[in-house]
Amino acid sequence: MTSASDTTFQGADAVLDPANPLAAPSDLPYGLPDFSAIREEHYEPAIVAGMAAHRAEVEAIATSPEPATVENTLEALERAGQLLGRAATAFYNQLPSDSTPGLEDIQERIAPQLAAHQDAILMDPRLFARVKSLADAAAAGTLALEPDTAYLLEKLMTQFERAGIALSDADQDTLRDLNSRITSLQASFGRKLLAGANEASVLVTDEAELAGLSPDAKAGARAAAEARGQEGWLLEMQLFTHQNVLASLADAGLRARVQEASAARGATGGENDTREILLELARLRAEQAQLLGYEHHAAYIAADATAGTTAAVNEMLARLAPAAVANARREASELAKVSDAARRPEPVEGSGSAGPGTVAAADWSYLNEAVRKERFNLDDAALRPYLELERVVHDGVFKAANLLFGLSFAERADLPGYHPDVRVFEVFDAPEPGEPNTGLGLFLADWYTRESKRGGAWMDSLVHQSHLLGQKPVVVNNLNIVRPPAGEPTLLVWDEVTTLFHEFGHALHGLLSEVRYPSQSGTSVPRDFVEYPSQVNEMWSWEPEILRSFAVHHATGEPMPAEWVDTMLASRIWGEGFSTTEYLAAALLDQAWHQLAPSDVPTAVEDVLPFEAAALAAAGVDFESVPPRYRSTYFNHIFGGGYSAGYYSYIWSEVLDADTVEWYAENGGLTRENGEAFRRKLLARGGSQDPLASFEDLRGRTADIAPLLKRRGLA
Ligand SMILES: [Zn+2]
Repeated sequence: MTSASDTTFQGADAVLDPANPLAAPSDLPYGLPDFSAIREEHYEPAIVAGMAAHRAEVEAIATSPEPATVENTLEALERAGQLLGRAATAFYNQLPSDSTPGLEDIQERIAPQLAAHQDAILMDPRLFARVKSLADAAAAGTLALEPDTAYLLEKLMTQFERAGIALSDADQDTLRDLNSRITSLQASFGRKLLAGANEASVLVTDEAELAGLSPDAKAGARAAAEARGQEGWLLEMQLFTHQNVLASLADAGLRARVQEASAARGATGGENDTREILLELARLRAEQAQLLGYEHHAAYIAADATAGTTAAVNEMLARLAPAAVANARREASELAKVSDAARRPEPVEGSGSAGPGTVAAADWSYLNEAVRKERFNLDDAALRPYLELERVVHDGVFKAANLLFGLSFAERADLPGYHPDVRVFEVFDAPEPGEPNTGLGLFLADWYTRESKRGGAWMDSLVHQSHLLGQKPVVVNNLNIVRPPAGEPTLLVWDEVTTLFHEFGHALHGLLSEVRYPSQSGTSVPRDFVEYPSQVNEMWSWEPEILRSFAVHHATGEPMPAEWVDTMLASRIWGEGFSTTEYLAAALLDQAWHQLAPSDVPTAVEDVLPFEAAALAAAGVDFESVPPRYRSTYFNHIFGGGYSAGYYSYIWSEVLDADTVEWYAENGGLTRENGEAFRRKLLARGGSQDPLASFEDLRGRTADIAPLLKRRGLA
């Protein structure tokens, strides 16, 4: 495929019907897309017309007779592509949250076109010459730039180089083909994964097998079965290997079936098998990296991240892995004692339970619950009535944002979301004395799971904050909380509480952005930095003042007993061996697939699982009781989306997070003054400067790993 012929062909086709609701900027407050008017059939023509309009704008910049200036080149590029941005942003928000076969088809068609579109811009030598002339003038001292403009220019030059502007014409063609094939493979991976997850759901027809499951989870499973016209109870899959229901199901046989179905996803040999795709992806990414002069894909990724090199990533992972696995083994031996004590004399046929002294992966969280109950007297089922969604949001998540940043929230039932589940909140900044509240942006909340939504939790931006474009931010949070039966309150488990705080931390990064250029807005930072503010925000779920405020019994209004809170705080470190190990195993798998030269990537689908096993063994994280958080065949972060060779980012970010939690503690904790410093020095800066410089500005020094090791009990 060549982009030149596409241009001509689609250019003729690209007149957009003005009645298309994406054709003009939305009239709704903050430019919220008008989802009440947008239909599936509006996306593709708007995106195609958006690409054509963007190409025309870029052509005008590239062929301008004037010498390049910041205004006519850098700013003009930032202003260009608004129709495309509007349409693609709305589309890519809806795709994972409320997918339909039609949207998936559109994605498969447009993803390669979008990749080619982006390539065509970054491989335009006329445009590059103009940008380079600015970079040369800045380097020679004849052009003075504001710091954010200088950073924009530096990053743009890197983007051109990484797109292959310096390659021969033939190599550029190869690279273009690789990019477009990779993008379309990623889309297919995501599509197969969703279908495979639905296929892997475990149908239970004998109610007795559901012993231990909470009444709401049971009702949810019932509703899930009904929604698919099935009799019984359907246990749907969450994205990760470990399934939450495993903590409460008393039936070892059912636990084993759930675990097996979860771990087999993508490797079942049918239509939804992902092995062929992931092998091709690993190979093509390696080819792409080598073409650009990097040893492998992981090196290519690290170079543009805050990590800098693969060696730095490997060193960090290697430093953590042995301590984490040792902790997990200690935890396993504690769990095995419980298991051995409860073991029947004869093993149950086909139960999947492990022998004496060991713990099967399927049994881990059930036994873990037993140990937590015994040791900490904590019981998820007893906690849940104190963790009601509305209270956690208003008296927890929003309250922390109010105390730290002065933000307030008002629900806007008059504004439409993209699905009836979506709630829209207007966010207000603290008013100046004597002034009315200033609207800061919109926060959309989409908390419930549904068949059309991908697994996991994430934040997205619908409108990027930018002073240049006069845009205020519109952001969205997605979770996968199981909907309770009609009329019942939504009661959470503790993990879901921290996830709410986590995703809202990303939302704050978007909402509190104060940058000029839209491409530097909020969360537009390297991926090994982007998890940092969200992880910091998790700390407020544990803050006694906040916890006491939201942890109130939904029916009686009584606060959670103080001794439970103390016990929860005491129990935090328990289970870190498991969670660090399952995470590191996944991060190491990601590095293993992406630290290969093209010729070293296995070629047969039968080799995928053995490669995975060998990689885990080589890194010392092959502990059967604790499988990787994601196995290769359903590792959507790295094969379906943009986290390839970047899954390490969470722990990299956590180093910054743990160090920042110490900074808060040293400075008096939850105060407006601290919130203000974190907001101004860090959140507001977005991607307008080197993010590590923002961190150092806040912390007064470079990051220290010690607080993380201490927090995770790995010191
Ligand atoms: Zn996150």
